[in-house]
Amino acid sequence: MKAIQIAQTGGPESIHLVDLDRPVPAPNQVLVQIHAIGVNFIDIYYREGVYPATLPITLGQEAAGVIVEVGKNVEHFRVGERVAWCTYLGAYAEYAVVPESHLVSIPAKLTFEQAAASLLQGMTAQYLSSSTFALKAGDTALIHAGAGGVGYLLTQMAVQAGAHVISTVSTEEKADIVRSIGAHDVILYTKEDFESAVKRITGGRGVDVVYDSVGRETFDRSLKCLRARGMMVLFGASSGAVPPVDPIQLSRGGSLFLTRPSLAHYTQSREELDARSSDVFGRLELGTLELHIHQMFPLSEAAQAQEALQSRATTGKLLLVP
Ligand code: NDP
Repeated sequence: MKAIQIAQTGGPESIHLVDLDRPVPAPNQVLVQIHAIGVNFIDIYYREGVYPATLPITLGQEAAGVIVEVGKNVEHFRVGERVAWCTYLGAYAEYAVVPESHLVSIPAKLTFEQAAASLLQGMTAQYLSSSTFALKAGDTALIHAGAGGVGYLLTQMAVQAGAHVISTVSTEEKADIVRSIGAHDVILYTKEDFESAVKRITGGRGVDVVYDSVGRETFDRSLKCLRARGMMVLFGASSGAVPPVDPIQLSRGGSLFLTRPSLAHYTQSREELDARSSDVFGRLELGTLELHIHQMFPLSEAAQAQEALQSRATTGKLLLVP
């Protein structure tokens, strides 16, 4: 089978298309024939070595396909079933072995592409808006990079929860996108200082929560956008990692809360994984959550897909197709 591996960490040039034996599922695992693969920033972090791994590895943490073989002791999944998973390495391939604990069933109404485009970023938007800071009517949220992968879904969920959403984006085209999904105020943070704009929009009060996936370029000013006792949700580092923070900053900012959440910690049990994935898939089936698939690349062009994600020129989701 074909797979995308790295033998050494580095730039896109470290990515190689290789031929491997089709894997055999161990106990509690299934073998999935993959139909669509999600491209995510975490794949780039693995390629660069930000997350340590014993090399070589097959990249990729999100895919959808059909079960073609079932290992011993698998209880809830059968051959022929359409499934998706995330937060488990090995998705950039024609086949992958996946532990049963990571699998979710794909509802009949959804395609493989929809499942692979929504599971990781959708469940992230879901836990951020319903668990990390449970948004409700009357809350004001600042969402950075609102036209991005998570941002696009998070903006919709926040608006549906009744929150007032202030979104930052880099271009007019992206501003139109976030307006079309209901963002109430849009700031072009490449042209205007977003801290001053947020103060103006909120009449000096500040927002209840900031969802910050941009990291280094926005973190300090994001803290200054919060009301007293507001919550800073730093969930990514698209512009680079945030340097160490002195806790006194939180006190000076108004007894602020700071969290750095990860999807894996919000999908730890079968019940939680099922609840979050069903919420996301259910919204897609109902048509209340809109997905935007920006581009699909053949598996052999994984390096180009990752470069496109890093380029900042994409909106919504990028997929690989085996
Ligand atoms: P996006 O599709 O949102 O892409 C990143 C966006 O960040 C860009 O579109 C761009 O939007 C903005 N950006 C600002 N500065 C830069 C920069 N210097 N380089 C590149 N982009 C920049 O990505 P995702 O939604 O897939 O992921 C966003 C972040 O969230 C990543 O860091 C990812 O690792 C993290 N993440 C965290 C999860 C968690 O559970 N903690 C789960 C999923 C993702 P604009 O042009 O409008 O500025």
